[in-house]
Amino acid sequence: MLKDQDRIFTNIYGMHERTLKGAMARGHWDGTANIIKKGRDWIVDEMKASGLRGRGGAGFPTGLKWSFMPKESDGRPSYLVINADESEPGTCKDREIMRHDPHTLIEGALIASFAMGAHACYIYIRGEYIREKEALQNAINEAYDAGLLGKNAAKSGWDFDLYLHHGAGAYICGEETALIESLEGKKGMPRMKPPFPAGAGLYGCPTTVNNVESIAVVPTILRRGASWFSSFGRPNNVGTKLFAISGHVNNPCVVEESMSITFEELIEKHCGGIRGGWDNLKAVIPGGSSVPVVRGEKMREAIMDFDYLRGELGSGLGTAAVIVMDQSTDIIKAIWRLSKFYKHESCGQCTPCREGTGWMMRVMERLVQGNASVEEIDMLFSVTKQVEGHTICALGDAAAWPIQGLIRNFRDEIEDRIKHKRSIAAE
Ligand code: SF4
Repeated sequence: MLKDQDRIFTNIYGMHERTLKGAMARGHWDGTANIIKKGRDWIVDEMKASGLRGRGGAGFPTGLKWSFMPKESDGRPSYLVINADESEPGTCKDREIMRHDPHTLIEGALIASFAMGAHACYIYIRGEYIREKEALQNAINEAYDAGLLGKNAAKSGWDFDLYLHHGAGAYICGEETALIESLEGKKGMPRMKPPFPAGAGLYGCPTTVNNVESIAVVPTILRRGASWFSSFGRPNNVGTKLFAISGHVNNPCVVEESMSITFEELIEKHCGGIRGGWDNLKAVIPGGSSVPVVRGEKMREAIMDFDYLRGELGSGLGTAAVIVMDQSTDIIKAIWRLSKFYKHESCGQCTPCREGTGWMMRVMERLVQGNASVEEIDMLFSVTKQVEGHTICALGDAAAWPIQGLIRNFRDEIEDRIKHKRSIAAE
């Protein structure tokens, strides 16, 4: 279990002061100017050495992403955009940072922006996060008043402005290019890539989009050193990580833990066990609603990191939003509900997603009732394969994967329901 002195987020439960004074007492904003004075290259190299992989779901190495930004400006400004549009069902970790430990994010924004040559950073926060927006804005105001933001921010010699932008509540705006479109005042519709944001992002300028947690951990990593951070977890899956565990555990919570902790330890140490005991565990979605569901018996020994969940279980760590379901769950209905969500949130730009999400949802609706033929299960699987990888953005994949996980792991249950329905009709 992660020791208290190794936690980056020391006020994740809001038990202490979230003000600047409280944050400073907990060690934040300590020597920020000295970090910046070490220079861009040192910061980027240290972030690469830390092994931090993006915490927004895709797990792309953060330091490497930063290194794609131009070293010299061609006349255009560079921007950092922080994705706080946390909308993936089950995911509720970034909100705890923003409402209880906001200065971790603000300090991280300054350092990361400097490392990428950006004098301005935009935080795009989801429309439903109203109290979080207020808490974060108050913290930003405090930082401006204390000279930590603005001209010569934190006496570092770097001029830096931080803007908080409130979204309107569309899930698709969490996709980085849709987020950029929305920031520009347009409809939140994903752009084709390339060009990638590092070449032409916000207002056509070099832009990096990072998740809240990825930025908020930066100051502590740089203060304590890359080797400290990379000492947790397994190679290629290092660091500490916020896990958000919901569903049928005795004590659902958000907790910072070492990467690569086992699922059993995570649930036993922090969540008081599975409701009704381990034999009552039916299924787990280990990384937010878009990753495939896994059968409960395969999860107990599972290692909670990117490589294990993808390589061994065909699922993913995603946002580390762990949704636990016990035997009382109608798993077909649970996945249908996700299909309904993705159908609703499709921006409609590309045909496989616009038509496919609705089609898949309608078939799922019939599977919930058992109102289908067994052959349709294969047909549904094949349609998910035609959507996956054939769309502009990853929402198509996100809609396809939960259904694929259901069919791979719970096909017997789907078939039983169809047969049961038939037998009733025959009576
Ligand atoms: Fe829009 Fe879906 Fe295409 Fe993404 S995959 S661009 S959400 S239609």
